[in-house]
Amino acid sequence: MSINPWHTAQEQLENATDRLDLDPLLHARLSQPDRIVEVSLPVTMDDDSVRVFTGFRVQHNNIRGPYKGGLRYHPHVDMNEVKALSFWMTMKNALIDVPFGGGKGGIAVDPKVLSVGELERLTREFTRKLFPVIGPALDVPAPDVNTSGQIMRWIRDEYETLAGKQAPAVVTGKSLDNGGSEGRTEATGLGGSFALAELTRLSGDTLKGKTVAIQGFGNVGSYFAEYAIELGCVVVAVSDSKGTLYKQSGLNDVKAIEKYKKDTKSLDGFPGADYLSAEAVLSLDVDILVPAALENSITIDNVGDIKATIIVEMANGPTTPDADAVLNERGVMVIPDILANSGGVAVSYFEWFQNMNDESWTKEDVFEKLKQKMTSAAQATFASAVENSCSLREAAYLVAIGRLGQK
Ligand code: NAD
Repeated sequence: MSINPWHTAQEQLENATDRLDLDPLLHARLSQPDRIVEVSLPVTMDDDSVRVFTGFRVQHNNIRGPYKGGLRYHPHVDMNEVKALSFWMTMKNALIDVPFGGGKGGIAVDPKVLSVGELERLTREFTRKLFPVIGPALDVPAPDVNTSGQIMRWIRDEYETLAGKQAPAVVTGKSLDNGGSEGRTEATGLGGSFALAELTRLSGDTLKGKTVAIQGFGNVGSYFAEYAIELGCVVVAVSDSKGTLYKQSGLNDVKAIEKYKKDTKSLDGFPGADYLSAEAVLSLDVDILVPAALENSITIDNVGDIKATIIVEMANGPTTPDADAVLNERGVMVIPDILANSGGVAVSYFEWFQNMNDESWTKEDVFEKLKQKMTSAAQATFASAVENSCSLREAAYLVAIGRLGQK
């Protein structure tokens, strides 16, 4: 039976609100999205046939500012997934304390089988359909799984053509030559490493020599690997949808693995390392497990195999509520997604701010500001967990909902 991420999100909201004397109006506003948009996207393919794709944008809540969240291109994208992801964006943006609400979108498509021309036509058609509901002060999309700076460039260009004016802040995650910010590409992985470092410090522990396994070797997983190594961790495994690369003494040259994967489209055969099944990454004997792929990777069926004592949720929604309960009972420290991966949207906010104010910050500046944001969100979450004797996830929701209630 497939797990509905929207049900997971609703359950997380109810768990947190059980502990709060929440205003019924705020509860109602957080329980359902403000607006749901579903569009049909007819595209002429290279062979002159016409295919019709389905696109989604869900605007969950804008109490704290414009809707903000990524666009995902993946065959499994559907309304329930996008609703859940938009809810998590509302919570994440409140927790990391940026003046944005939550939104998310996507297209049900496998972009890897489209030509560049087909991908561009699809993206421009999506932009035309979303034009009435997006904009720098209204709703600001960004990249997510299988979307990139190039896709943001097409969206910005199409939007500006329709608007008849410059509007770089209509999307974030742009490339540097198109109004992007220094440090955006690294931001999510780097931010996760800052959160891990601070929570480890607050728990009286150290990261030196801790072993790490990372599920998902895309943008987030690969940068997390690099920064975890800088913190003194030993990254023994990274995986993609096809398999797991494993080396007990440590996969130290992350850039070389990235290049190998880019050249061969696979992790299989990387010199000096073993190649295991894709599922193997979850059950390795490591200290820290980092799900950095998609939703629902840690479930009641596999939670019993997990040996790690720290889990850093770099993906959105990687743990189902029943599996989460088991991890809590076992005393595993789960750094929840809305904290762990919020570095991406923090730097998206910096990009949006620079665009709106015609500024350009250095990478050092961006990384320093990101460190401050991640550290203070980690501290607020830890303090709330201690005060309420609850998990870091519940604590993160309590902080986020508390801030939403102040608006
Ligand atoms: P990406 O497309 O760059 O990479 C995704 C990776 O996951 C790929 O390596 C893919 O092979 C792998 N993958 C897919 N299915 C898998 C499976 N079953 N087992 C193992 N690996 C699998 O995407 P990304 O931007 O790195 O995003 C990864 C996760 O992080 C998503 O949940 C996304 O929502 C979340 N996230 C991303 C950002 C960001 O800034 N990119 C910010 C916050 C959260």
